[in-house]
Amino acid sequence: MAALSSVPGQLAALTDDFTAGEGILRRQAQRESAARTYARSLPVVPVRARGMTVEGADGRRYLDCLSGAGALALGHNHPVVLEAIRSVLDSGAPLQVLDLATPVKDAFTTALFETLPAELAEHGRIQFCGPTGADAVEAAVKLARIATGHGGLLTFSGAYHGMTAGALAATGDVVARSSAGAQDGRITRLPYPYDYRCPFGVGGDRGAELSARWAGQLLDDPKGGVPPSAAMLLEAVQGEGGVIPAPDAWLRRMREITAARGIPLIVDEVQTGVGRTGTFWAVERSGIVPDVMVLSKAIGGSLPLAVTVYREDLDAWRPGAHAGTFRGNQLAMAAGAATLRFVRQHALDERAETLGNRLMGRLRGLAAHHACIGDVRGRGLMIGVELVDAVAEPDELGARPNAPHLAARIQQEALRRGLIVELGGRHGSVVRLLPPLTITDEQAEAVLDRLASAIEAAQAAGRGGPA
Ligand code: PLP
Repeated sequence: MAALSSVPGQLAALTDDFTAGEGILRRQAQRESAARTYARSLPVVPVRARGMTVEGADGRRYLDCLSGAGALALGHNHPVVLEAIRSVLDSGAPLQVLDLATPVKDAFTTALFETLPAELAEHGRIQFCGPTGADAVEAAVKLARIATGHGGLLTFSGAYHGMTAGALAATGDVVARSSAGAQDGRITRLPYPYDYRCPFGVGGDRGAELSARWAGQLLDDPKGGVPPSAAMLLEAVQGEGGVIPAPDAWLRRMREITAARGIPLIVDEVQTGVGRTGTFWAVERSGIVPDVMVLSKAIGGSLPLAVTVYREDLDAWRPGAHAGTFRGNQLAMAAGAATLRFVRQHALDERAETLGNRLMGRLRGLAAHHACIGDVRGRGLMIGVELVDAVAEPDELGARPNAPHLAARIQQEALRRGLIVELGGRHGSVVRLLPPLTITDEQAEAVLDRLASAIEAAQAAGRGGPA
């Protein structure tokens, strides 16, 4: 008990000892896996956080445009989230309940269904998954394979759906493996409409249309090499792929193409959901209704939670077909329900749309003076700035080669100015902004100022040679 009760004391002491963070970082580098990610480029030891502000053990404060990789719709420690967590703790409710029914889960499910497209809300089922987005993706694909009896999966260039693709194929349970069709190698990758680097060399609506034609024709070609498809899996805005929004018309074409061929459409809204892209769910902008939606990150109000929701006629799997010990995180469900309600009540999706457009407008203004900014794009508060080699020859569409060293330098210069940003996209050349939807106008100005200054500094440093 003594050790436990001293933890807050240790934390308080830590925040008074600005050198303690260095020891923590050193021990992390010695003890943690070589696979650690954010910790490499963001050597921050967070000890306090509120809203968009994170305070490091060294006493420095940062504006956080990473938001737990998009998991924090309301920023850190929002009062309604803390209140929801406290009320579960104070109620004496069990915290570990597997997939049993509880009042907290019932309230979460109700809150979530209130946000879904009407067809899914009325005729949908929900599967609570292990608490990561990747597990919910696995569940969605497994469900589609079982429901259709097909193994093939249509995915897209640049897609990111998590890190566990091999998990099921590696299991020793032969029955589970074969019924889920996990023998893989049956993935067909289709071209995603990436306007700035259009794979067809035309860009714009025409480029997106050609990408749709490619998909439709390939699926109908008996010699196209495409195995019978269990599903098409896509992101309405690719996040890790470099913040690439799919045009609405293209999404509608994907919906038509899949519906006409009886292929379930799975939309992965793990990163785009809960108001992030300017509508509550990213699919709303185009008006399409997927057969399956994969949801995680912000739905847990900063705690781990992941679900798939789907049309009830797909509900053909057997009991236990997708199990897992930690599918009943009560604190996450309470925090998530509070977050979903807050975003709706305060129309934070609309705020994301308005502010996102304003931010992108300003960033495009910046691009006019910096040839190293090749493209500014996004939806709502999911924004990407693609860095390019300003002195290289542009291609026929005006796109220059990626500039990964410059992007990395910008990230470091931003950090020095108290701004946390993430990189993504091809070659890690896209600076990604995922601020909380609660970001104020003043904070947005500060983000722009710090980013502009970081770009200037990184360019100046770059003139001295590669980083
Ligand atoms: N799907 C998308 C679109 C994502 O962006 C991510 C993570 O960034 C995932 C799935 C995987 O989620 P997790 O990291 O929780 O497994």
